[in-house]
Amino acid sequence: MQQLIDGYAKFRSKVFPQHSELFEKLSTGQQPQALFICCSDSRVMPEMIMQCEPGVLFPIRNAGNLVPVPGEASSGVAATVEYAIRVLNVADVIICGHSDCGAMKGMLHMEQLESLPVVKAWLENAGASSRGRLASVKDAEALPFQEKLALLAELNVIAQVENLKAHPAVYEAMRRGTLKVHGWMYDIGSGGIRRFDTEKGSFVALLPEDQPVIEAGVRDERKIA
Ligand SMILES: [Zn+2]
Repeated sequence: MQQLIDGYAKFRSKVFPQHSELFEKLSTGQQPQALFICCSDSRVMPEMIMQCEPGVLFPIRNAGNLVPVPGEASSGVAATVEYAIRVLNVADVIICGHSDCGAMKGMLHMEQLESLPVVKAWLENAGASSRGRLASVKDAEALPFQEKLALLAELNVIAQVENLKAHPAVYEAMRRGTLKVHGWMYDIGSGGIRRFDTEKGSFVALLPEDQPVIEAGVRDERKIA
């Protein structure tokens, strides 16, 4: 805890004064560029990865970067999505999965979640479409665990993008041409981001120059959707 208080003291004495004009501007409103949906995992820091100042990203974080289908309002995800699009008019939504995700591990071992009934219910409900996609991949069950985990994390991003598009605020804005939805995967070990390329049906490096670096640490690119 002391580390956090010390960090706050540094923010108050050094960081805040350096950005006081920005905070003054932000004190009366926000105009974020993108809704960023990612996992609660402590190793995923969107503002650091995207090098964003306060006010740029509008975040939703939960276990597994899941977006329940419309009608499931209790998680608060739907409300935040609706607000970001209809009130804040964000131009982009990014759903960003990540490597070594505990929620994805949980989805592969639901039987081990007996002591975590709330997590289990969350993954069962909001993750149903992701597990369904994995089940429909030929021979997925026979893959080594790490490969299966990586595959599920990718399929999860694709499934959650589809769940997101079913929300009225999202499909209406997409139909108007004012909103784009993106599916990304962040690799913790390399710091690399891959985006889902809908034409190729696979994830490719977000930065073209990154392709060899990222692919070195990730299984072969293959068509998954
Ligand atoms: Zn995670």
